[in-house]
Amino acid sequence: MLHNDNTTVLKQAIVFWSAAKSRLKDTDLQQSMNEGKFLHHLVGSMSQGAAGNPTVAMVEAAFAHHGLHWRYVNMEVTPDDLGDAVRGARAMGFRGFHCSMPHKVAVIGHLDGLGESAAVMGAVNCVVRRGENLIGENTDGKGFLKSLESVIDPKGKSVVLFGAGGAARAIAVELGLAGINRMTVVNRSESSGQELVSLLRATLKVDAEFVVWRGDYQVPATTHIVINGTSIGLFSPEARLPLDIGSLQQHMVVADVIFNPVRTRLLRDAAGRGCRAIDGLGMLVNQAVVGVGYWTGIYPDATVLRTALELAMEA
Ligand code: NDP
Repeated sequence: MLHNDNTTVLKQAIVFWSAAKSRLKDTDLQQSMNEGKFLHHLVGSMSQGAAGNPTVAMVEAAFAHHGLHWRYVNMEVTPDDLGDAVRGARAMGFRGFHCSMPHKVAVIGHLDGLGESAAVMGAVNCVVRRGENLIGENTDGKGFLKSLESVIDPKGKSVVLFGAGGAARAIAVELGLAGINRMTVVNRSESSGQELVSLLRATLKVDAEFVVWRGDYQVPATTHIVINGTSIGLFSPEARLPLDIGSLQQHMVVADVIFNPVRTRLLRDAAGRGCRAIDGLGMLVNQAVVGVGYWTGIYPDATVLRTALELAMEA
């Protein structure tokens, strides 16, 4: 019975389509195709471990909410296949794509140019097609900045940043470009911490210092913004950042890059000290907002993305 119903519907659709087609001149048909009725603009993500990347849920929700005729596809790409994958994306007219681990640096060799912060960082997480060129941008730090700016203007502020890996580097460069007054990078291993501080000083002329992380760090009272840019706390709600919580003061804003769990121990402790706390979900959502804005020209409603992300993470 179901089969017969489906056949009838299909036949009706074919008759309808044939009639509609006959009413259209060839040029009209071509034009409606060109307008994208049956052809989406394509974007997506190239990474390893693509199956665990929830960005697709946010971006597709943004497209649906804003009536954008675009699709976002997660693509599993090995380092050996990256060059072919980028050539394929060019050939298929992709309007851009995210680059996640392990391609953030390697992809640069396959692109036509870099945006300002991506050039300083030497890492790309978002590729944007501008004309015929594929340009590498970095939206991780921009996402963080957007999230932070909803609570405090970083211009002229003193910042303590824990960590010197990819996320911390992106945040440090974006805060440097945003005109912070001073940054203290606190990191366990000396080499990456020193390297980040040298980059901030030499390239962005930021007043930056490095502190080797040994024992509980005392946050100076003159600090305005405290950021966990390490992976401490990821999937571990009780993991403790080696930090003297008593040194956190009410006037400080405390932010975490960790988005799972959303309320990390650091954020709970900071709220307990009366600080304003910013979770890592805001960074994740806003980097997607910036990426969609770069690709489509429309900066989507962040609450739509956040709701979609929360639903995807609960599922
Ligand atoms: P990296 O591996 O590049 O860097 C990890 C950093 O954490 C390093 O500075 C490392 O220090 C430090 N670290 C790790 N474990 C410890 C520890 N036990 N004690 C002291 N320091 C430690 O990772 P990423 O920078 O790419 O990512 C960091 C976190 O940020 C991840 O959890 C990731 O999920 C999150 N993230 C969140 C985003 C968001 O949108 N919210 C976006 C991107 C990342 P050392 O140099 O000494 O090893």
